[in-house]
Amino acid sequence: VLNFSAGPSQLPEYVLEKIKDQMMDYEKCGQSVMEMSHRSQEFKGIIEKTEKRLRKLMNIPDNYKVLFLQGGGSLQFTMIPVNLFGENKKAAVVNTGAWSKKAAAELKRLEWIYGHETCVIAASSEEDNFSYIPKDFDIPEGIDYLYICENNTIYGTKYKKLPDTKGVKLVADLSSCILSEPVNVSDYALIFAGAQKNMGIAGLTVVIIREDLIKKDDRIPAMLSYYVHADKESMYNTPPTFSIYVMGLVLEWIEKEFGTLEKLGEINRKKADLLYDYLDNSKVFKGTAAKEDRSLMNVPFVTGDKNLDAEFIDFAKKKGFVNIKGHRSVGGMRASIYNAMPYEAVEKLVECMKEFEKGVLG
Ligand code: PLP
Repeated sequence: VLNFSAGPSQLPEYVLEKIKDQMMDYEKCGQSVMEMSHRSQEFKGIIEKTEKRLRKLMNIPDNYKVLFLQGGGSLQFTMIPVNLFGENKKAAVVNTGAWSKKAAAELKRLEWIYGHETCVIAASSEEDNFSYIPKDFDIPEGIDYLYICENNTIYGTKYKKLPDTKGVKLVADLSSCILSEPVNVSDYALIFAGAQKNMGIAGLTVVIIREDLIKKDDRIPAMLSYYVHADKESMYNTPPTFSIYVMGLVLEWIEKEFGTLEKLGEINRKKADLLYDYLDNSKVFKGTAAKEDRSLMNVPFVTGDKNLDAEFIDFAKKKGFVNIKGHRSVGGMRASIYNAMPYEAVEKLVECMKEFEKGVLG
């Protein structure tokens, strides 16, 4: 099948084949990666190689630390404030959908510890069902950082230009767009992303944090402390070894198949353009995100009729296009076209949509 899931999502065949080859015996060490001690030389090799590949592909400056953590993107909603709060003990969030809303809710939850307002909403597109990215908003006074969700997996919107934070630190959730095109890591204080969309499988969250923001603070519970994880090179406790291994393979595939994120970004743009061009000209389907803010990774669309949406989802499924149903909170359809989705698969999806459209129009 062609799997358009928003995550966990389709993996490159190269990665699946490699896992199969190495399943019983990783590089002739007589064990599978799943059975290996995280302290072994073999695993040390895996985690070091993975970090090196990520640093090279994303051009991560030396003054940034890469952490391999657990707890999903969702744990970052708490780890970020408890580690990054400075003198204000307050952060601002741009509310662009369900995931920034959850991040704001977790920030707000900390009020009982700090005894004052910990979260302000700098801007929001909620009034228009999160169909666009707010621009030209003021940066609130007295905040320690501005938080954004750079690509909104559910609503299919993406920042094309980062907000001008006027010197305030920028923290960004790149869960559904990391590695989809180049980013300038130095623009951010902290980037985080779950691996299960563009970097591999569930169980692993990557945090890229500017080193001067990693501060020792013994009041922070060890598992929530960037200092503890950084100090122990992501080995404070048992890391998600297999997920790290799979991420290494995904990065190896990107290197071999595309070479750079510039090249990969070009292909992702071509893939997305193909689908958006069709949606813009279709008489049955239409995209729901504002044109200037359209995501390259998640493409939500509707027919405008719930029954017809359901009919299309069923029609597509019978033809081998799966997980095309929109998120339960918004309905309609959504095609997630992450790095592992080939251009030809998007062409096939467009053909399937055309065929359905023809049937509807008669
Ligand atoms: N942020 C974004 C943009 C997401 O799409 C998701 C999940 O899909 C999350 C955060 C939450 O990630 P997790 O389920 O790994 O906690």
